[in-house]
Amino acid sequence: MTNDDFVIHQIRDEILQRRRFLLTSHARPDGDSIGSQLAMAFALDALGKEVRIVNADAAPDHYQGFPGMHRIEITTEVDTDADAVIVMECSDLSRTGITGLDSRFIINIDHHAGNRLYGALNWYDETAAACGEMVFDLIRALGVPLTEQIATHIYLAILTDTGAFHHSNITPRTFDICRQTVEAGVNPAAMARRVFDSNSFGKLKLIGAVLDSMVLLDEGRLAVLYLDDEMLQLCGCTHNDTEGLINLPLTAREIQAVVFFKIAPGGVVRVSMRSKYDVDVRQVAAQYGGGGHKNAAGFTVDGPLDELRPRLIERLVMAIGEGLLTRP
Ligand code: 5GP
Ligand code: MN
Repeated sequence: MTNDDFVIHQIRDEILQRRRFLLTSHARPDGDSIGSQLAMAFALDALGKEVRIVNADAAPDHYQGFPGMHRIEITTEVDTDADAVIVMECSDLSRTGITGLDSRFIINIDHHAGNRLYGALNWYDETAAACGEMVFDLIRALGVPLTEQIATHIYLAILTDTGAFHHSNITPRTFDICRQTVEAGVNPAAMARRVFDSNSFGKLKLIGAVLDSMVLLDEGRLAVLYLDDEMLQLCGCTHNDTEGLINLPLTAREIQAVVFFKIAPGGVVRVSMRSKYDVDVRQVAAQYGGGGHKNAAGFTVDGPLDELRPRLIERLVMAIGEGLLTRP
């Protein structure tokens, strides 16, 4: 039995013994956090458990039509006496953006490097392409059948967290799980259309505005994007409309990494980064207290952008140089 198998069995035993669960994930949810939580929720339903799902922020619009979305409560403070809190996709409990969870029995399930092991039970697998892969294994261990609803959320988690099968975290296991979800009724073409081809006209305008102001550095290997509230308002968009936008520069062959600065009115700067192959943006984010994965990472700083930018760009140029050495 591997160490992972041992932890999965421990988690399974604890879940089977407990009755009332609170599920959560990180603030500003993405497809992996939504998919992992809802797959888990449907599995716990099947076991006759009581389930509550709590997130700090609402999910972007294109996730709203997926099964069970109405079950997610949006709040940053909970008062709960649940028998267990299952936290998925969070390297640190503070990533939830929710207070009131720390006094409960916490089960921590995550695939981010540097997980802080804050749970009573901690299952942390950096090799999983999505937290949804881990949830899939747990659901199997619980003996719950893979219904179409559960399969949809597992596929959603994997589709989005691999950057639509672009990132370097994909393994045979990823496709093996996807195969089983398709056998359970998932339609990959419909999923891709729903998730990636659901832009509003306002978002198309926003894509134009953000790409128009893109700056290329390091002989075209690094793209820098900016966004502030004025650009959002001009296009009739909100911050939720920015999802996926960061991936567009990577469709240019020369561009190896992208950094996206989103400037909030109070001066807070949210930084997202994406990269190709072995260019490691996670280690860059970690130097600013953030995290993520090799090809997708981020952090937040309390401005000002002018102070942050020069050193960050230097670090990204270094990461690109190092990553290119091992290019396949
Ligand atoms: P995004 O750029 O889409 O917000 O995030 C990309 C990846 O980096 C995701 O896996 C996300 O969880 C992670 N990430 C983004 N911001 C932070 C942060 O401030 N701290 C940590 N630990 N991870 C982050
Ligand atoms: Mn993830």
